[in-house]
Amino acid sequence: MSYGRPINPETTIVRHSGEVPHREIEVDLCVVGAGISGTTTALEAARLGQSVVIVDGMPALGGQAVNSIIGTFCGLYRNGTHGHRFTFGIVDDMLDWLERDEALHYRHGPMTTVVHYNEISLSRWVETRIDQAGVIPVTGATLRGVTTEGRRITALHLVTRYGDVTIRAQGFADCSGDAALTYLAGFECREPVEKIYGSQQAVVEGIKVDVEPPAREELAQRIAEKAEDYGLIRKNGLMFYFPGKDVAVMNMTHVETPLDPIEASRTGLIGKDQVDRGIQLLRREYPEIFGEITVRSYGLPGIRQTRWIKAKHHIVVDEVVNQVKFDDAIARTAWPIELHNAAEGFVWTTFDEDHTHYVPFSSMISPEADNLVAVGRCIDGDPAALSSVRVMGPCMAQGMAAANALELAGSGSVHQLDIGALQDRVRDNLDRTDGVAP
Ligand SMILES: Cc1cc2nc3c(=O)[nH]c(=O)nc-3n(C[C@H](O)[C@H](O)[C@H](O)COP(=O)(O)OP(=O)(O)OC[C@H]3O[C@@H](n4cnc5c(N)ncnc54)[C@H](O)[C@@H]3O)c2cc1C
Repeated sequence: MSYGRPINPETTIVRHSGEVPHREIEVDLCVVGAGISGTTTALEAARLGQSVVIVDGMPALGGQAVNSIIGTFCGLYRNGTHGHRFTFGIVDDMLDWLERDEALHYRHGPMTTVVHYNEISLSRWVETRIDQAGVIPVTGATLRGVTTEGRRITALHLVTRYGDVTIRAQGFADCSGDAALTYLAGFECREPVEKIYGSQQAVVEGIKVDVEPPAREELAQRIAEKAEDYGLIRKNGLMFYFPGKDVAVMNMTHVETPLDPIEASRTGLIGKDQVDRGIQLLRREYPEIFGEITVRSYGLPGIRQTRWIKAKHHIVVDEVVNQVKFDDAIARTAWPIELHNAAEGFVWTTFDEDHTHYVPFSSMISPEADNLVAVGRCIDGDPAALSSVRVMGPCMAQGMAAANALELAGSGSVHQLDIGALQDRVRDNLDRTDGVAP
């Protein structure tokens, strides 16, 4: 078929000049990391009229929420079977999008409301909204260096397969999960002394929709008894179902998530092997419902907690348990302590129905930097506290706060903000008590 066009047989001979191609961009805000934290930060900043660039080492946007197939938004609702929503703003549009796409399922109770979502629809929401907002994406771009002048970051230096990129900005948001920006800038960070495990997620298909799935406790019990026989490292697990559909997100594995480049690369191989073992267990132990399941897609290795910033405030687990409402609170949640600190399982400490704990702005800012705010997995807390406030509901609220804080700070310091003015801008995420999910 010629499509009516003659074929041009000519080619051009090229040779590398020895110079690495180099692009420079100057914006108001540079967001490093395009997961749920970075996406929310970038969209909120664009809504405020800022010029924004969003950078990610992966070739696609969406971070772990999309690419590791997390599959469920947690920490978004108050406890109880029909608690109100905790976080509003950008998330309203995201939930509307997923609902219109028939790509979400609200699971009410027994502890709280969680939102199961289809990761493909979520990826299209992220990409569409980032594009419509005029945010400049720089994907497949790894941080190589950071220029600082005194207490300010002035430029980032990135490596991509097509050449180098320098980004100059007034403000920077570290939404990298591993505090990559803060660490590379030379500011203090924390690493846990005790190992914290990640998980390899997968979407499985072929579930028999006319058979009742095993109850959570029964599934957990069976996995605990049989895990060793199948060579599974983790001895518990969950399946997130979509009613009436033959697919589920499987969360049954534990993998180490080291910060060493060679060791980190093995994580995905070990994780997929663990998924395959989980599939064998489910097929053989529950043949009626899972006898014919296969993996539709493996996520990228899911990383929970590796390195995070040392902030002005370090949230401790007692502040979570005792519901401390910080003077500079900017986000809230009631998600349990969910600390994956053992190969075979995790700490799971739930809270009462009327429990609310808070995230202070001071846990998002380094004492050493004036124009840097951390969001999401890399804000400051002890491992147990962080295991709650890093789930995606509060990540989105932190993103809203970070964008507003950096806009309010302008060319000044995030340490000299009018906290009341910041809180007024994110008031809904502190006080609203409506938004019960359908
Ligand atoms: C297996 C697993 C299951 C979970 N289950 C749930 C759940 O059910 N519900 C829930 O709400 N939460 C869950 N969580 C927690 C939640 O998913 C994460 O804490 C949250 O997604 C973090 O979002 P983020 O945007 O802060 O980080 P990420 O999504 O990790 O995004 C960080 C981004 O930064 C990029 N990046 C990192 N370093 C660099 C660099 N040097 N250069 C360029 N880019 C870089 C990464 O590529 C990545 O895209 C789970 C986490 C895991 C790992």
